[in-house]
Amino acid sequence: MDANEIAAALGEIATLLELRGENVFKINAYRKAARALETLTQPLDTLIAEGTLGKVDGIGKALLTKIETLHKTNRLEELEILRSQVPPGLLEMLSLPGIGPKKVKTLYEELGIASLVSLKEACEEDRIAKVKGFGPKTQDNILEGIAFLKEGEGRVHRPVALEVANDLVKTLRQIQGVQRIEIAGSLRRLRETVKDIDIVATLAVGVDPEGVMDAFVAHPLVVHISGRGQTKASVVLEVRNPMVLSGRSRLGADLRVVAPENFAPALAYFTGSKEHNVRLRSLASEAGYKLNEYALAGPEGPLDCPSEESIYRHLGLAFVPPELREMTGEIDAADPKAMIGLPKLIPMGALKGIFHNHTTASDGIATLGEMAFAARELGLSYFGVADHSQSLGIANGLTPDRVKNQWKEVDHFNAKQEGIHIFKGTEVDILEDGSLDFDDALLEGFDYVVASVHMFMNQPKEVMTARIIKAISHPSVTMLGHPTGRLLLRRNAYGVDLDAVLAAALKHQVMIEINANPWRLDLDWIHVRRARNLGILLVINPDAHAPGEIANIRYGLEVARRGWCEAGDVFNTRGVLEVKQYLQDRKDRKR
Ligand SMILES: [Zn+2]
Ligand SMILES: [Zn+2]
Repeated sequence: MDANEIAAALGEIATLLELRGENVFKINAYRKAARALETLTQPLDTLIAEGTLGKVDGIGKALLTKIETLHKTNRLEELEILRSQVPPGLLEMLSLPGIGPKKVKTLYEELGIASLVSLKEACEEDRIAKVKGFGPKTQDNILEGIAFLKEGEGRVHRPVALEVANDLVKTLRQIQGVQRIEIAGSLRRLRETVKDIDIVATLAVGVDPEGVMDAFVAHPLVVHISGRGQTKASVVLEVRNPMVLSGRSRLGADLRVVAPENFAPALAYFTGSKEHNVRLRSLASEAGYKLNEYALAGPEGPLDCPSEESIYRHLGLAFVPPELREMTGEIDAADPKAMIGLPKLIPMGALKGIFHNHTTASDGIATLGEMAFAARELGLSYFGVADHSQSLGIANGLTPDRVKNQWKEVDHFNAKQEGIHIFKGTEVDILEDGSLDFDDALLEGFDYVVASVHMFMNQPKEVMTARIIKAISHPSVTMLGHPTGRLLLRRNAYGVDLDAVLAAALKHQVMIEINANPWRLDLDWIHVRRARNLGILLVINPDAHAPGEIANIRYGLEVARRGWCEAGDVFNTRGVLEVKQYLQDRKDRKR
């Protein structure tokens, strides 16, 4: 087994132990080790051969032996036993929002429910509402959750699809005669989840498409060939997906081979969105042209369209970047006569630092220094530590004394001038009533404060909204973390009136986080745009629990671009001195 497969096995053990109601610390040890394996900076083989795996943070002695066994023999008796004890349907039930291991266990023990199918039936027969600790509200939530899972069926998170799409393009690019090849579709539009992969290619004149078609259908991840012709092939791929319990997902992919002069129109057509294309076609026909997947043609025949830019130009429009093609005003803005034009999108790589990150002090797997150096490695010039606060026991939240120790550690680090500055922050828990998990005096001591909801997520919408607004009106709160709590394809946002929260954020000059974790991407791009239009400052944070997760800021940047953000809309495009000044001014103003 490789590191990722072992990580998946350890994650499964943790979940199975949870379902059996075992000790939290034991469960967390497995989770930490799994995370450590997913983010190793050296190959697992090397670490095992050199006997240094035990030195990796998060991998204790007991786990070390288990990892070595899995690596060598591909199996672990403990896992096999657990699997035989826990019905597989229980794992499925766990993916429902608001349904933790305790509830699953109760349903299994009291009603013998061991699958989503039987759970749905029981809800429809009103049997769940009668179980102690459940009630009609929970029953409704379960039904809603099952519908939500069905809706997301067949979709995968962006990184999962992107990895295999990049690999396909890389492989095909090496085939003789391939001239241009690009990913199209929702992947190119930077959508946060993806249903299938679209690739458009063109070959040099006279080259037979057989070669590239052969290579496409022969890709090692292809499990089914759904169609294959001269110009199009469709396959089903089985890809690694750490977000599902089986560790694998199926995903369709289409390859289209077009003539060189058709490449740009085909790329535009297959990039979508459908609604954007419909509007482009109608603009074309108003101008006496005809636009389709092959060409933009006038009365005298096809116009020269070597690039997508030229298509827009022929239609009298500025180039619309793919991520804006969602039919939310981009075509009007692309008109040179428009009052408000297209945004100058925030460039990839524009971030100079990050604020929301965890270390071994709470539930991260790397030390403060290791995390800061990993950020420096990526070219960032500041790193904000924001470990969890005291009430979050499950994440080893910091007590005030431990916070003060961390501050000393930060001062010590900064005194050494290591080429990266650490800001002192916290991810303070927003308690059930909207108060914060530290007292005012302590909160004042931080350079900045991220406030987030982690518990009591099932409150009624008005209660949750009032709770968050109360929290962000606290003078010490600088930014609101993962504002809706959504987990893509997993858990809906909690009930919250976001417009009311945005209005409060504007009033109190609180930043809103774009949580760049690709499983969250919270705030979503629609609300990012709304926040931006209101003049609210956004901040892109990786919420990294491991050095390898810092690079996730790219996904947050993509959301910002989809939300029409320019560099000035995002706080962490600012340099370290500007940030220091801003945070200090803000404190002085609030005092
Ligand atoms: Zn959080
Ligand atoms: Zn966090």
